[in-house]
Amino acid sequence: MTKIEWTRRAGTKGETWNPIRASNKATGGVGHFCTKVSVGCQNCYAADFQKRFKNPVRYAAQDADQVELFLDENALLKPLHWKKPRTIFVCSMTDLFYEGHPPEWIMQIWAVMALCPQHTFQVLTKRIARANDMLGGISPKGDHAMCKAINEIPYGLGNRKGSLEMPLPNVWIGTSVEDQATANERIPVLLETPAAVRFVSAEPLLGPVDITSLDGGYHDGVRLIIDCLTDTALDAHDTIGGIFGAKLDWVICGGESGRGARPMHPDWARSLRDQCKAAGTPFFFKQWGAWQTIYDRDKDDLDWRACPTPQNSNERYVNLEGGHGFHGERVVFAKRKTKKASGRLLDGVEHNEWPPIDQRKAAA
Ligand code: SF4
Repeated sequence: MTKIEWTRRAGTKGETWNPIRASNKATGGVGHFCTKVSVGCQNCYAADFQKRFKNPVRYAAQDADQVELFLDENALLKPLHWKKPRTIFVCSMTDLFYEGHPPEWIMQIWAVMALCPQHTFQVLTKRIARANDMLGGISPKGDHAMCKAINEIPYGLGNRKGSLEMPLPNVWIGTSVEDQATANERIPVLLETPAAVRFVSAEPLLGPVDITSLDGGYHDGVRLIIDCLTDTALDAHDTIGGIFGAKLDWVICGGESGRGARPMHPDWARSLRDQCKAAGTPFFFKQWGAWQTIYDRDKDDLDWRACPTPQNSNERYVNLEGGHGFHGERVVFAKRKTKKASGRLLDGVEHNEWPPIDQRKAAA
């Protein structure tokens, strides 16, 4: 059972599943490992947890030789023992597609998911290019490595009528983005990745993101602006449909919590909410995180002399670009709070939407 809000769908129990683990060579402690890939990883909560497991590593390439990674068979087989439907966040303490995880382990994890059609698995990665490389090569009937992995699962466990229809209908694939640059880079690759459901987690959200105007780079000398909520693109002259044959099915948004957390400007969250609403895409607002906006220069319409001034590191101005000066567009004043105190209301509303439970879309 987990408290992660977006696993807690009605009719299922929320769960995390971490079959890949890391044994610390010096202490013998068993925890997890990963390496940071972008600024969204800066305050990785999983890295922060490792000391509790007697695994005092940083999630950094320099520390990789301090641990031995292994696929924990007991943990691997756990979903086969869970009879009632669960919504399961896969590898919540690392990134399943971290380069140090061999393809055979990932295939074994896919085999277990194939054998558990009663569960919904949510795979969230920042390494969507590796996910696309691996999953794009699997034929609609599965592949040899997966069939072999399925055959190796001990007899008598789970539902032996597991699906081999690819992409697996019970596996959702998402990518994390934190700003426009990571959205531009990762979301188009996600849309090319075979998956029954594709989602984006904009958490921690560190800047404005327009997912209806991704910079798709140049194609045949023409720059494409992509709307990934409608699967259309704008070139120099026209709107073109069917770019990927897929669009985003779900968007999660949230601010950062924990040590060193950075504040989220409320307009960044509002903008994602409004983009999703216009396209009819389910939107989930996870949390404000460690900061709460208590004053909005434009909306509260105060004379600037009456504005609060940050007194210490627990108080900050945030403007639309993410800067911390009083000047700039849409300046708000944010205060550090607990995650619980800052809550989950966006303009007074809790946004708890998921893709339809019986969604069975085959990818292109
Ligand atoms: S990819 Fe995920 S698990 Fe890995 S360091 Fe970044 S935030 Fe942490």
